[in-house]
Amino acid sequence: MIDTHAHLTGNFCKNTGKVIERSLKKKVSKIILAASNVRESRENIELAKKYPGVLFPTVGIHPQQTDAENADSLERQLERIGELIKKNKDLVVGVGETGLDYLSTTADRPAPKGEKDRTRKEQQKLFEGQLKLAAEYRLPVIIHARKAVDEAIETVNRFEKKHGARKGVFHCYAGGKKRIKRILDLSGKWYFGVNGNLTYDPGLEEVLKEIPLDRLLLETDSPFLSPVPHREEINEPGNVRLVYKKVAEVLKKKEKDVENLVDENAERLFSI
Ligand SMILES: [Zn+2]
Ligand SMILES: [Zn+2]
Repeated sequence: MIDTHAHLTGNFCKNTGKVIERSLKKKVSKIILAASNVRESRENIELAKKYPGVLFPTVGIHPQQTDAENADSLERQLERIGELIKKNKDLVVGVGETGLDYLSTTADRPAPKGEKDRTRKEQQKLFEGQLKLAAEYRLPVIIHARKAVDEAIETVNRFEKKHGARKGVFHCYAGGKKRIKRILDLSGKWYFGVNGNLTYDPGLEEVLKEIPLDRLLLETDSPFLSPVPHREEINEPGNVRLVYKKVAEVLKKKEKDVENLVDENAERLFSI
């Protein structure tokens, strides 16, 4: 089993070694480390060096989550991401998470600690900058789109028309049934990331049934979004097995078959 989206460094995770050990015991053999900012990108690379063949780092800047101490301009932050890829070409497997998040910018939800409300224009600039970096280094993109799935699809569509087909995943896919076709119609090969939400959101079960199996990826988004029955706990990659189990249940397939198919997808997209 592969967790295609986890945050295991810095503030996010205290006992990383133990978390990874427990996950390996639960037969989660590979973990993609998603990045939210420049610091986490750097930490992902350092952590992955300690677990070759198990941890695979991505580098990127989340539309909202900033490194609180980082006062660099957006251009400089993008440059730093580019430098990290260049220096660690053999290690970095993707760019992200990047995208658009319009939830944080609403007045009734002030930015949490460590996050800074970025304007939509700033988010767009970061997103397009990272799409460019991914194209330059031929890497897949991990897209985070919250309350902005249409806008994210539109951005990818425009980018592909200008620069050619790209590939990646709409992680924590929240576009409902109606946007699946629009994503499949993009010129590049785009995947759908499903996580613990599936274990407590019946609506997502219906969405899952519409996603082609060769475009499905599973993830935890650790330390967030713990699946049932661990809702109150800190999430960790070992819990991705509960998502695999739920997918098998919903699609009425054997767990082993789901595992083979989905893992092949992750290995293909991230070349791991
Ligand atoms: Zn995300
Ligand atoms: Zn994430």
